[in-house]
Amino acid sequence: MHRRTFALSLLATPFALACSRAQPGASSTRASASSQPGAWPGPSTPRSFVAEPVPPVGDRLVLSDDEWKRRLTREQFHVLREEGTERAFTSPLHEDHRPGIFFCAGCGAPLFHSRDKFDSGTGWPSFTRPIEPGRIAEHVDDSFGMTRTEVECARCGGHQGHVFDDGPRPTGLRYCINGLALDFQAGRLQL
Ligand SMILES: [Zn+2]
Repeated sequence: MHRRTFALSLLATPFALACSRAQPGASSTRASASSQPGAWPGPSTPRSFVAEPVPPVGDRLVLSDDEWKRRLTREQFHVLREEGTERAFTSPLHEDHRPGIFFCAGCGAPLFHSRDKFDSGTGWPSFTRPIEPGRIAEHVDDSFGMTRTEVECARCGGHQGHVFDDGPRPTGLRYCINGLALDFQAGRLQL
């Protein structure tokens, strides 16, 4: 990464590195199945899980990359299956403050509730905690010279974002999540 480009990127999005695996725009330099030219086998718009039963805690969904590509949009696949990061302030969910439940966009597992959502100012949807125990898996992520904690959907392993310890009360945690990884069902308050 050229130093000048790096500095300008930080000026444009001062909190980018706080939440992203790579700085926005850098993902195009990585070898990526989702960035290959040609027709995408999956849908062009995200699938909704609103009419589907809620999978129980502890359930697992394991699919091949080809199967995931047929279920997800190109952009969703990049975030969920390649640990990509959407550009800050691009998700409409960032400023959506309606009550509702946030499901995994890959498998439909419930992950977060609007009661735990807050405006972090980072440009990504942010939460103080998962909706319930067992829904989120966390792993140490040492990439890009930083030690962070990656957040995944516990059911399908889909990458959601990262969690930091600079959040507000009551937990002091900040789950910094890609909107592309979420299926928001506004008005739904119980599972
Ligand atoms: Zn999932």
